[in-house]
Amino acid sequence: MSLKLFNTMGKTLQEFKPIHEGFVGFYGCGPTVYNYAHIGNLRAYVFLDILDRTLTYLGYDIKHVMNITDVGHLTGDNDDGEDKMKKSAAERHQSVLEVAKFYTDAFMKDIDALNIRHPDVICKATDHIPEMIELIKKIEANGHTYMAGGNLYYDISTYPDYAKLANLNMEELQAGAGKRKVVVVDENKRNPGDFVLWFTKSKFEDQAMTWDSPWGRGYPGWHIECSAMSMKYLGKHFDIHTGGIDHVPVHHTNEIAQSEGSFTEEDRKEGPWVNYWLHNDFLILEGGKMSKSSGNFITLQTKLPSEKGYCLTDKGYEPLDYRYFLLAGHYRKPLVFSFNGMDSAKNSRKALVNKVKSILDASNGKAADLASLSPKAKEYLDAFKADLENDLSTPQALSRVQLAVKDTELKPEEALALVQNMDSVLALSLVEEAKKAAAPQGDSHEGDPEAAEIDALVIQRTEAKKAKDFATADKIRNDLAARGIVIIDTPTGPTWKRQ
Ligand code: AMP
Ligand code: ZN
Repeated sequence: MSLKLFNTMGKTLQEFKPIHEGFVGFYGCGPTVYNYAHIGNLRAYVFLDILDRTLTYLGYDIKHVMNITDVGHLTGDNDDGEDKMKKSAAERHQSVLEVAKFYTDAFMKDIDALNIRHPDVICKATDHIPEMIELIKKIEANGHTYMAGGNLYYDISTYPDYAKLANLNMEELQAGAGKRKVVVVDENKRNPGDFVLWFTKSKFEDQAMTWDSPWGRGYPGWHIECSAMSMKYLGKHFDIHTGGIDHVPVHHTNEIAQSEGSFTEEDRKEGPWVNYWLHNDFLILEGGKMSKSSGNFITLQTKLPSEKGYCLTDKGYEPLDYRYFLLAGHYRKPLVFSFNGMDSAKNSRKALVNKVKSILDASNGKAADLASLSPKAKEYLDAFKADLENDLSTPQALSRVQLAVKDTELKPEEALALVQNMDSVLALSLVEEAKKAAAPQGDSHEGDPEAAEIDALVIQRTEAKKAKDFATADKIRNDLAARGIVIIDTPTGPTWKRQ
């Protein structure tokens, strides 16, 4: 089999063919660093990490580029609202650069906790203003722009393929209706769907960060940064571009119009700017949409004032429980966040780590050589590879490792080799976590049908004790005792056995 990816451009599953054999260049839209990343944002980066690790697993050399948006992103994607960075700086009584640094650091901590590999290039918008200006000059020279009210706009009616990526209806767009209904009317725009390439003083008199440009002192629109930086680091034609599905109708549509709008005839003959567009679907809260600007969101590990939201680590989950929860869903399907789902991810991950621990013990930590695996073990590897090649199907890949660790026909050394190999993509730190796991005390829970449920109760009791909620902790202990189960507190954490 070969790698197949669902391309939003054309909306089909397509065989992946890189531009240069053996090499993949790809760009993922990075965070706007005006607040902490919420767990929905982090879904986008775990998906990107799976793409990154899968390409490496399949033997490609990769160049993964990600931007950090530290200027130009307004609260509305359609050039309306306030500047997100400026608003946050005013609220925090800090400079825009301080805010950007603070939240970039927090973002890096989150991605590290989720075992997300750092992209090869992480580039800040504010470090690339000259590249953006040069690109805008080319777009202007190609006749796609107009000045109005002090801003330089992109005229979408000059770009025939504008509606292609998102299947938009051009007539509706020009009327400000349909999927991209215009709420705030900008009188300067020729078409409601036009967007700003360069803002001047006309939008915000006291904009903190401004630069000189041929169109006046000002700052860039949000979309231009991704066009400019991706082309700087990956060239005029590259393989894959990613982001959340919310980016399809506006941000990525505008990026294409800009990038291909800057092309010469020669460039156009060489092919499109990006060959494959990949988009992750949303993480949805049962109570409705989660957004950074609403003040109602869930972070991975950063404590928030309670009126704003909460973090998963405070609820007793580890960051890797969340990674597991995400991998158990396919990136192109909406995923509903729930504590039940998180509990089941946590328990399944724990059970998997325990299995790996027994494999480590049985194999004395010695993994078999991949080149000399038995046919049975090789089948697992082939199936795992096929799962990933099938549009990065992590739910299948995850169940593949689950099956392999339970397969008693495999030698422990082989099982360990499979775990190590598969975990280079799943990145759940299975072996490291198994080494950390407390040595089993008392009875082994192998084959106990209630083990997962009891494990979960023991964890709840530990969390309750941590939160000084001794009434709940005692109740759990007593309820278990009534069922003939004793909890044993050991220096490495609690375990349990049946009496
Ligand atoms: P932002 O920092 O707002 O530019 O968003 C960073 C990334 O998170 C983008 O790729 C968004 O498309 C993505 N994103 C935002 N909200 C969600 C969500 N609830 N679920 C999944 N991805 C999201
Ligand atoms: Zn972008």
